[in-house]
Parts: sequence; C-alpha cells; structure tokens
Amino acid sequence: MNPEQLQLTIGWLYPTLMSTYGDRGNVICLQQRAQWRKIEVQVLSLDQESSAEQLHQVDIFMGGGAQDRQQEIVMRDLKGTKSGILQEKIEAGTPGVFTCGAPQLLGHYYEPALGQRIEGLGLFDLTSKHPGYDARRCIGNVVFEVTASPLAQELETMLGSKPVIIGFENHGGRTYLGNVQPLGHVVKGYGNNGQDSTEGAFYRNAIATYSHGPLLPKNPFIADWLIQKALNRKYQTTVALEPLDDTLATQARQAMFKRLGVRC
Ligand code: GLN
Repeated sequence: MNPEQLQLTIGWLYPTLMSTYGDRGNVICLQQRAQWRKIEVQVLSLDQESSAEQLHQVDIFMGGGAQDRQQEIVMRDLKGTKSGILQEKIEAGTPGVFTCGAPQLLGHYYEPALGQRIEGLGLFDLTSKHPGYDARRCIGNVVFEVTASPLAQELETMLGSKPVIIGFENHGGRTYLGNVQPLGHVVKGYGNNGQDSTEGAFYRNAIATYSHGPLLPKNPFIADWLIQKALNRKYQTTVALEPLDDTLATQARQAMFKRLGVRC
C-alpha cells in the first residue's frame, strides 16, 4: 500500500473543557509520529457544538483530564446520542487514550469532592470517588509495568522487552476496578487509588490511565501501538510503521528512571 494514501482522524474529546492538565501533548505527539510516517492526520475537535455523527469519523480517540466542574458539563453533553456512538465505537475496537477525568466519566460514576455524583457511561467497569478536599491529591511521577492482555504482549513484541510506562499523575479522585483489567501494575507512584497497586484500565483497544499529557511523548511505543491499531482497523491490513529515531525519548526515560531510583 502506498503510504501517501493513508489517513487517520484523531477525535479529541472536549479540548477546551478537558485539557486542563497538558493532555494536548498526547495529541501533538500522536499527530507528529503519524505525519513523520507520511500518514495524513486530521485532528477533529469534538466539543459541545459538534454533532454526534462526527464521532463516526474517528479512528483514534483522545480524552484528557479536567476539573470536577468541567467533567459535569461534559457529561451533560455526552449523554444521549453521543454516548451511544462513542460506546459503539469503543466496543468495535477503536483505539484511544482516556486520561484521568475522562475515564472517570467512562466508568459507572464519579463522586466529586463537592456536589452530586456524576453518572458515567459505564463503558469501563470501574467507579471513582474523590475522598474530599482534605484528602491528599495523588500528584507526582508514576512508573508502571503494562500487564493488560493482549496489550502487554503486543508491546513486548514491538519493544523486545517488558513495557514500562513513565508518566505524571495529578488527581484527587480514586478509582476502583470491577470486572476490567488494570492497564498495569504500579512500581512507583499512586496509580488508581494508592492502595491496590493497579493503574488505569484496558478494555477492547481503549486505554484508561491517570498518566497525563507526557504519556505518549515519554512512552512513544504507545503512540505507535495506537497508530498501528487504527491503521489495521481502517485498512484491514497490517501496515508496517517505519521506525523513528527515539534517542531523545529514550534518554529522557533513562534520566527519569534514574532520578526515581527505578531499575528498568
Ligand atoms: N477532577 C478529577 C480528580 O481530581 C480529575 C483530575 C484530572 O483529570 N487530572 O480526580
């Protein structure tokens, strides 16, 4: 297949309301890594003004973090036709990364520090609860090993070693998983709730995580996995991605592992 013909649409969920924590970095990284492979990329902003039908065009979803108040506004907009299409797409295997506030909304519910419980879409079998403003926020660098299947095996084949993610988390809410696989096992940091060593969740090809906007720049193999999955689904064939020079990302990762005292 001629790479010039390849095209991907990134559906960025609520960029004005849900990009409080730098999650735009993930969108830029994904876009750039696709474009370096001569894949044409369209970034589609999906906000309150967008129609539900636009969700059908999306090949990769990106959803970022937000504050409790914005999450409530987003949820009001998502309910109805939009949630149905989003659910259909995720069930069908559309890949995506949903960060922090986004997975809280895709679970059964999120209980904010103040105010009413926000009912979620129930796409991920998880619940989230903010223990109150007096409780310590979970802030800092986080390191976790990807354990979700088949993601972990696919990444290991790609990398030739166990996939270890380095990220940055900043959340008050704590997430508790039901019958859904965690994305990974925490080596350093808080993860979902600071207690059970789980981090994020993985369902179909949807990645839920508390790791913010440096997730893809710091762990470019996740960006490549998303691109690969999206191309496979869209063109129904395996498209080999040209390798990129990731020396700087590798050095940045090593520096962080060293700083955090993690041997990888
Ligand atoms: N409002 C949520 C919390 O504090 C989400 C925060 C975020 O997206 N970083 O848990």
